[in-house]
Amino acid sequence: MSLTPLPQSVAVPEQPIKILLVEDERALREALADALTSEGFLVTEAETGAAGLNVFRTATPDLILLDLMLPEMGGIEVCRSIRSSSRVPIIMVTAKASEADRISGLDLGADDYVTKPFSSRELIARIRAVLRRAEAASSPIVAGSRLRIAEAEVDLEGQRVLRDGAVVHLKPKAFQLLAFLIENAGRVYTREQLLDKVWGYDYAGETRTVDVHMHALRQAIEAIPAEPVALQTVRGIGYVLRRPA
Ligand code: CA
Repeated sequence: MSLTPLPQSVAVPEQPIKILLVEDERALREALADALTSEGFLVTEAETGAAGLNVFRTATPDLILLDLMLPEMGGIEVCRSIRSSSRVPIIMVTAKASEADRISGLDLGADDYVTKPFSSRELIARIRAVLRRAEAASSPIVAGSRLRIAEAEVDLEGQRVLRDGAVVHLKPKAFQLLAFLIENAGRVYTREQLLDKVWGYDYAGETRTVDVHMHALRQAIEAIPAEPVALQTVRGIGYVLRRPA
């Protein structure tokens, strides 16, 4: 009788974080690739949007740095295509800081922006922040955790909000909206995105619904609801939950 030996467990070395860099400007692309590689990232370069999409499909990067202004297939089109199948973090690299670009990028689901010119130190800080956020969003919330948000204590596990020790009445959807914003603190969402994320893609409601729930949350949490410190409005875009570092 022969027994097949069990495979020995082997310590798996920590995998380097894979970054796909889509940038048509060669000098900038090479400089960025050098800077990222020296930080320990594994960088794959793509010169066009189409090449970037090919790499995305085959190499499963952990994060994508995507230039907005690309010839033929532009960054927005690339972002839209990736988002149709993946939540991989995307940082848009743009030469224009105009609001219109920011809004269209946010609607498409880009996670952050850097505006040219930027330092490699700034870029790397943004990359690490986006990766941390992505990891936090995918990991379960620590059991029993209570968070201080403005004037209130949020009990994520018990799905309740306390103020001065007393439970504040909130509709379940309002709590879900709050929990979503806490998990994604610092990230700006449009009303449409919040409807999709919290109410679900099938929900046929109006964006006003989000405003109504945000109003209720501010009443529950903020010292002065009209001057929120945590649940902030980003004019012309949507909402963000800010937490002190
Ligand atoms: Ca470009």
